[in-house]
Amino acid sequence: MTTIVSVRNLQVAYGSLEVVKGVDLDVSQGEKVVIMGPSGSGKSTFLRSLIWLVRPKAGSIVIDEIEVSSRTLMEVRKRVGFVFQHYNLFPHLKVIDNIVLPLIKVHGLSRAEAVERALEALRLVGLEEKATAYPLQLSGGQQQRVAIARALAIRPKVLMLDEPTSALDPELVEEVLQVLENIAKRGTTMLIVTHEVDFALDVADRVVFFEGGKIIEQGPPDILYKPKTDRFRQFLKRLH
Ligand code: ADP
Ligand code: MG
Repeated sequence: MTTIVSVRNLQVAYGSLEVVKGVDLDVSQGEKVVIMGPSGSGKSTFLRSLIWLVRPKAGSIVIDEIEVSSRTLMEVRKRVGFVFQHYNLFPHLKVIDNIVLPLIKVHGLSRAEAVERALEALRLVGLEEKATAYPLQLSGGQQQRVAIARALAIRPKVLMLDEPTSALDPELVEEVLQVLENIAKRGTTMLIVTHEVDFALDVADRVVFFEGGKIIEQGPPDILYKPKTDRFRQFLKRLH
């Protein structure tokens, strides 16, 4: 089984504040890993640090057989699709151009190839007809689907999503989860921070519980029904 992400003893700090305290994690090709954990437990920092959006203090990260370093960072980032809580689309660019520009500028595609890929990605998230709209003309759910399309268009080896639905109005959450479920079924390797238990039960191969910058517990999604640790049990209780 091919390992796409391999993390060893990862440590991340903001100045003297230690946030990720020695995390090991392997993600296999096609695997869907859901990360849960209380606010402030270091989930976002962990995910961001995998592509050095926050630079780790210690540890090693290998993505698609490339050890992340200042020398390899650009190559690594080309292989990772990243979706943020707040979409991070360029408001002054049309939907299609939000997707096309990185494909041209970062991935070196021709405009024609990039447009074709972008339209294909928009089709996957059901938004082909919004290609020429501006982000702010779309609902939050649609904007997040564009952000997902942008991440998919680079044909990533792994898709990383940091609470992709937590900024959305409740009625918009389902359409985004549905899109993510469809993408998961296509075999994309995914690392997702989310507290959507039903989604995790349907989609995840593994659930990882984070607390205090460490992995406290992990296992198949049925650990959501029978957590082994008190801390995970308490956390899950508070979700309902
Ligand atoms: P989570 O995503 O699990 O809520 P975060 O990774 O966002 O956790 O935050 C973990 C800890 O790091 C928190 O104490 C938070 O205040 C702190 N933190 C997050 N980002 C920064 C930053 N850019 N500078 C300083 N501290 C930060
Ligand atoms: Mg977070």
